[in-house]
Amino acid sequence: MIKLFNISKTYPGKIHALSNINLHVAKGEFIFIAGPSGAGKSTLLKLFFAEEFAEEGQIIVNGINLLKVKRKMIPYHRRSIGIIFQDFKLLNSKTVFENVAFSLIVTGVKKKSEINKRTYEAIKLVGLSDKRDAYPLKLSGGEQQRIAIARAVVNEPPLIIADEPTGNLDPELSVDILDIFRRLNEKGSTIVFATHNRALIKSTNFRRVIISKGRLLSEEDFT
Ligand code: ADP
Repeated sequence: MIKLFNISKTYPGKIHALSNINLHVAKGEFIFIAGPSGAGKSTLLKLFFAEEFAEEGQIIVNGINLLKVKRKMIPYHRRSIGIIFQDFKLLNSKTVFENVAFSLIVTGVKKKSEINKRTYEAIKLVGLSDKRDAYPLKLSGGEQQRIAIARAVVNEPPLIIADEPTGNLDPELSVDILDIFRRLNEKGSTIVFATHNRALIKSTNFRRVIISKGRLLSEEDFT
């Protein structure tokens, strides 16, 4: 699903955000990208959905070579990825249902019955069926993140990328959110989950890789 060979990324000002990263993520895998703030986690994820580009190495995601891909193909590539951030980036003037349905509509789904069915399913999956007509700002942080997850997965993308999705949530809610990702993984999605929350990672047996100062450390280095 994801293959990185000797990837390096430098930002202007000689900031070496990533150095010589090699990583393979198999289809159906759940992998944590762990590491402190500033380690390079977000930069790595941005490479996967082609928001940033490495200047060295090779990166292949969903069979697409992202250092050779034509710019106009990038929106199509992103449609195969569900992306979830720490801040929920919701449309606050739209209801839960409308936020999630919007994600289907922009990808060209027109049939109302199909939009309704798929939107209700995604909302149910994240446990928000009884809140589907509510507006995001009337809901808790945990509920808002659930909307963001439903919106990201309503198109059933094979790959789900989450960048600190529990960063704004207290520990109990973080466990609930992790459970949703676990269920998505059980349904077959590949999950890449970046976090600095070691307790959350340690509560699972999923694979973990650690980034420190832009370098990937071995899994044994996680203590
Ligand atoms: P993390 O997600 O682990 O907190 P980031 O990938 O955001 O780490 O950042 C890695 C390094 O790259 C940091 O030193 C950060 O300041 C720097 N950085 C991130 N984005 C940019 C940018 N757009 N321009 C310049 N430097 C950046």
